[in-house]
Amino acid sequence: MPGGQLPLFGDGALAAAARESKLHSRRRLDGGADGLRAAVLGSGSGGNSTIVESVDGCLLLDAGFSCRELERRLDLVGRSAADVDAVLLTHEHEDHSRGACRFARRHQVPVYGTRGTYRGPQLRELGRFARPMGPAVPLTAAGFRIEVFPVPHDAREPVGIVVESGGGYRLGLATDLGRRTAEAWRSLRDLDVLLLESNHDLDMLRTGPYPWRLKERVASARGHLSNEEAAAGLDELLSDRLSWVVLCHLSETNNSPAFAAAAVQPVLDRRGSSAKLVVAEQHRPGPWLEVGQRSDQGN
Ligand SMILES: [Zn+2]
Ligand SMILES: [Zn+2]
Repeated sequence: MPGGQLPLFGDGALAAAARESKLHSRRRLDGGADGLRAAVLGSGSGGNSTIVESVDGCLLLDAGFSCRELERRLDLVGRSAADVDAVLLTHEHEDHSRGACRFARRHQVPVYGTRGTYRGPQLRELGRFARPMGPAVPLTAAGFRIEVFPVPHDAREPVGIVVESGGGYRLGLATDLGRRTAEAWRSLRDLDVLLLESNHDLDMLRTGPYPWRLKERVASARGHLSNEEAAAGLDELLSDRLSWVVLCHLSETNNSPAFAAAAVQPVLDRRGSSAKLVVAEQHRPGPWLEVGQRSDQGN
């Protein structure tokens, strides 16, 4: 049974029936294709969440908006909370976990996170919906093989995430990292879709209105990745299979979509890459990013 790796809840028959009906609707949408499809529901310090789906199931990566806002944004991309099989959290900061507890309880969905992430105050109410996730824990959820890797960030046990669909398509998410590490960059190789932090323009941060201490924190090795670092990092990750690069977690104070794109696009041009560049927005969902599927199957 697709998604069968998910533990059944107490009211298992109901949950199983709901999953079965979700599966039927996805098969109808996908026509049996084995590709992968994702949409950033929103990204930035005001909230982060991305939906990823294949014919086998559907994941939310981070749940940094209120439950109601998550539902609203899912609706905007043509999905509903009932489609979501599981939530994966990168870390406990509120802009990644804000709606996780309420979403889990309301929609009977498990939430995967590291031990450190669960110690965050926002997640104490998760109870029976909490599931362990970590670099040493092989994990399959909603038909995706999940790989997580540690990232340097000022949270308890933050991770980046790579999900691989049954058809072998891979999406990687690396936001909220202070610097590029060899371990993270090893994990992010051979992706079809890369969601990479491009938080700030160094000059804007330097001359901007943030207090000195906050500037230091953002630019530190446990803070956030700059546009320049994103560009250099992408240069190391580019491969022929990479179809989509999404710049994420842009600061609204210390960056602009045009600045971020201007820093990164030259890397794609210089390398002759056909990967498409998208800049994720804070206030509205981005387009569906599809790999391995017919283009008329997006919503
Ligand atoms: Zn964040
Ligand atoms: Zn964070």
